Amino acid sequence: MSLQATSRKKMIWVNIVFFAVTALVAVIGGPLYVLKYGVSLPEGLLFVFYMVATGLSITVGYHRLFSHVAYKAHPVIRFLLLFFGAAAFEQTALMWSSQHRDHHRYVDTERDPYSIKKGFWYAHVGWMLFWEHQVNYDNAGDLKKDPMVMHQHHYYLGWSVVSGILVPVFIGALTGHALGAFILAVCGRITLVYHATFCINSVCHMFGRPTYDIYATAKDHWFIAFLTYGEGYHNFHHRFPGDYRNGVRWYQWDPSKWMIWVLARLGLAERLHRVSPFRILAARLAAESQLAQDKLQTHRWQPEIEVRRALETLKLRYISLCANLAVWEKAARDSQRIFQQQVSKQSRELQCSASKKVEEAKRQFAVTHERWRELICHNPLDLRRALLLNSLG
Ligand SMILES: [Zn+2]
Ligand SMILES: [Zn+2]
Repeated sequence: MSLQATSRKKMIWVNIVFFAVTALVAVIGGPLYVLKYGVSLPEGLLFVFYMVATGLSITVGYHRLFSHVAYKAHPVIRFLLLFFGAAAFEQTALMWSSQHRDHHRYVDTERDPYSIKKGFWYAHVGWMLFWEHQVNYDNAGDLKKDPMVMHQHHYYLGWSVVSGILVPVFIGALTGHALGAFILAVCGRITLVYHATFCINSVCHMFGRPTYDIYATAKDHWFIAFLTYGEGYHNFHHRFPGDYRNGVRWYQWDPSKWMIWVLARLGLAERLHRVSPFRILAARLAAESQLAQDKLQTHRWQPEIEVRRALETLKLRYISLCANLAVWEKAARDSQRIFQQQVSKQSRELQCSASKKVEEAKRQFAVTHERWRELICHNPLDLRRALLLNSLG
């Protein structure tokens, strides 16, 4: 068992001073500068570029690539993610990933480096300003073998100062706006990316929807997802951490998954890990069933016998839904196996029949799912009534 994530209370002055100075320059210097000089186009573009490049390097790089190995990336992409990741001043990729792996493994316990059980502000920022964490990297053997990751780790100060301060100020100076670049593209951007990242550990472990796991403190929060390139779908992420997507549904705002997908199309990323849609659906249905049970049980003033009967009916409906899902999944698996076999006249007939079976199983599931959706959308009293009517019928 890893001994890391042992921590003790201690003022981390380097972090406190850096955090305070960048925040003060951003909050006081930013508005003063904009009022006095306005924002020129090059300054605006540099700010936006650095916001996006460093923010995505944390989500696509530090998080989904280095911490979770949710896909493989071309060395050029790995370098760019390490370069702009360092510019975010959120520690080295090795340390970030090691602590994040502990966050998943020991979530909400003493060994979770940013456990929400120690409070909102501890999880948001306190854990790195007022606590010292022992990190031995036992859980990051794969990353320790990566020369580029280790170079960034050993020479982190150089990497971060060059990529996060010198390059943007130099680009600003070329366009005659060195001060503006320092205030906006360095301090303002660092402060904003900091708090966006921190919100995942604080807001997303306290507020939002438990879409896939009602027992997790991690929640899906669409607004934080909007601020963090898709990372706010944190309930899904804790349930399926190896998936390269966090916003798994096509309409969910997750530019990080879109970027990884585009990289794969360009041949710069491969082996994108996707959890089976059936497993994801099963997790969602289990969460919905548990939430519906909770809805019924919170109205304890109902006659006990009616609540029990309603709960029984709910469980039966859930079991039948899961059975239909299992039939659909099996039909889909069989069909996939048949389609992978060699094509002959006989196999074409088999393919045709397998496709029909999949369609039929999918249709059956859709019918029961539709009824389930209608049922669980009820408020607690109507839900009880609907279930009682169902049990009598
Ligand atoms: Zn988390
Ligand atoms: Zn994670």
